[in-house]
Amino acid sequence: MKIQFIYPAFERHAQSHPELLDAVPCDEYLGGPSLAIANLAAVTPAGYEMAYCDDRVTPFSLDLDADIYALSFFTPAATRALEIGDMIRGAGKKVVAGGIFPSALPDVAQQHFDSIVIGEGEGVWQRLLEDAAAGRLAPRYQQQEPFDLATLPPPRIDLYIGAENDRFHPDDYPLQTSRGCPLRCDACVVPCVMGKKLRLVPQETILRAVQDLASHGKRAAVTEDTSFFFFSGARRHFREFLKALRDDPRPRGEKVSYIGITMPMILALDPTILADISEAGINRFYLVCGFDPITRKAFGSGDQESLDKAVEAIQRCKDNDIEPYTSLLVGNDTDDEGVFDRILSFTEKADVPKTEFAIFTPYPGTPAWEQMQAEGRIIDRTWKHYNDANVVFRPKQMSPERLLQGYLDLWRDFYKSKTFLASLEHGDRTIQF
Ligand code: SF4
Repeated sequence: MKIQFIYPAFERHAQSHPELLDAVPCDEYLGGPSLAIANLAAVTPAGYEMAYCDDRVTPFSLDLDADIYALSFFTPAATRALEIGDMIRGAGKKVVAGGIFPSALPDVAQQHFDSIVIGEGEGVWQRLLEDAAAGRLAPRYQQQEPFDLATLPPPRIDLYIGAENDRFHPDDYPLQTSRGCPLRCDACVVPCVMGKKLRLVPQETILRAVQDLASHGKRAAVTEDTSFFFFSGARRHFREFLKALRDDPRPRGEKVSYIGITMPMILALDPTILADISEAGINRFYLVCGFDPITRKAFGSGDQESLDKAVEAIQRCKDNDIEPYTSLLVGNDTDDEGVFDRILSFTEKADVPKTEFAIFTPYPGTPAWEQMQAEGRIIDRTWKHYNDANVVFRPKQMSPERLLQGYLDLWRDFYKSKTFLASLEHGDRTIQF
């Protein structure tokens, strides 16, 4: 039986607004796919033939023949994913889907697929395949208990690497160190999809994944939110990971491309952890701003104490020889029209080297989505617009048009004085846009 996995295409900032390509002197980082498909491939029993299509690189077509097609997608890719689902079913073939979007809006996804998986897929995958082979696919599969991560093999990244070509060959692929979260931040989908219990991927599995990546000449991108550092078990687990990285002889920046973090974390962390992170060879943070109380107050209302803290967080990164690559968000309910000037002046004061800008997006499955639905503020349900580059809701303190214009102006104004970036090495001039 042949399984054809498909990772559907989605738009990034530069595809939604091609005019930014002229204004931003950087290369676009086209990251590797999420780990969902590689994880399913890892738990697929022997005897199945597997193929993988990254629709961003080679658009999916029905020429890719298979017994069953399986998609995993998040909301930005939902428009294309639902189209692919219809195409496959229209050809009389079986297609199943899982991932963030089908988990958050199962009733919407259900209309386009023979079967959908809600939540983690590994625990139900084998049963789904057996049912497909027996011609009795159920409309939905959902594991009741969180998947036991101690039984999780390392992801089959080789499937992704085999699909690379001259145009698409990422330097890094995601690395997962935990799943689930007991908190309920308004813009986060993690508890909805991964559950409310924080579970840690065993250290041996993480290190095997890092070694796997290294054997293919790839780095690991720790894309997860590190707010879980607040839990002491998770902090210990992360320190062990750092210790193992220190023993990895590869040069600085060659093992991990970046880790995701927030300003409150940087300020709350024991300074020795920052030093350990740097010593482990990690030289870049993906510093997510606009979801935490410090940056919301600093940029939303111009609170001076919070602004000072934001500048201090950037300085701490620099003091530890870690590049603070920021993702600066606009459109929070606390943002008035002054947010754009405040953000720009912060980037100057803190001397932010490179950044991306994003528009607040109430993703299905988050508390923000529920709240805005209840308030009647969702104005656009075209899922491909849910990519942080479009205004899909009615902002509280400005018009949707003003928010979009302010976001586009930020890109242009910030990069006006950064033309020198174009002459840097590829890795130094690459950003996520
Ligand atoms: S943003 Fe981080 S801390 Fe908040 S719910 Fe999501 S994973 Fe948990």
